[in-house]
Amino acid sequence: MKLIDISTEISAGMPVYKGRAAKRPVLTIDGDFSTGTVYESRLEMNLHTGTHIDAPLHMIPGGDTTAPILLSQLVCDCKVFDLSQVTEKITRGDLEGKVIEAGDFILLKTRNSSEDILEGKYVYLDETGAALLRERGIKGIGIDALSIERDNPDHPAHIILLSAGIQILEGLRLGDVEEGKYFLIAAPLKIAGVEAAPVRAFLGIKE
Ligand SMILES: [Zn+2]
Repeated sequence: MKLIDISTEISAGMPVYKGRAAKRPVLTIDGDFSTGTVYESRLEMNLHTGTHIDAPLHMIPGGDTTAPILLSQLVCDCKVFDLSQVTEKITRGDLEGKVIEAGDFILLKTRNSSEDILEGKYVYLDETGAALLRERGIKGIGIDALSIERDNPDHPAHIILLSAGIQILEGLRLGDVEEGKYFLIAAPLKIAGVEAAPVRAFLGIKE
């Protein structure tokens, strides 16, 4: 099986949500060969930095943490839709022409994967698009933006999806991926009691 990495590399200079300093990872060296016999590093990072999964607790008081998410919900067939022509936001109209079936895991490829806009006016999914995906009964959605929505303090797209038990992957990198069907492998770090988790995500293509 050929594999395509769709994860964001974690580094001090990586794009972070709205360019906020608090979202930037801090990598430090706990010890090296000048202080001992081993080299060890420390990573301090907001859980929504880079490629990650959102759990309901992120937007819904009392909502589930990442604990109940089954690996089988994130290791499954998926469809990549190329929406690179969309300039601002993905709406119901942009998705209505696509084949979307119950149980699908859909990844949205936008110009975020090819242009330097992740910290600014990135392309996002609006609430009409989120509502259509919920109506179709999808199991998960992923996007190449650091948040699935933008500039709406009520977070309607997150709430529409999370309240229906739909998985949300954010911070994907889809520049090397064409529209089509793939096998998704997305593995969240196993952290107790949290509303999000960093994810290593990649796509498999059967050869
Ligand atoms: Zn998030």
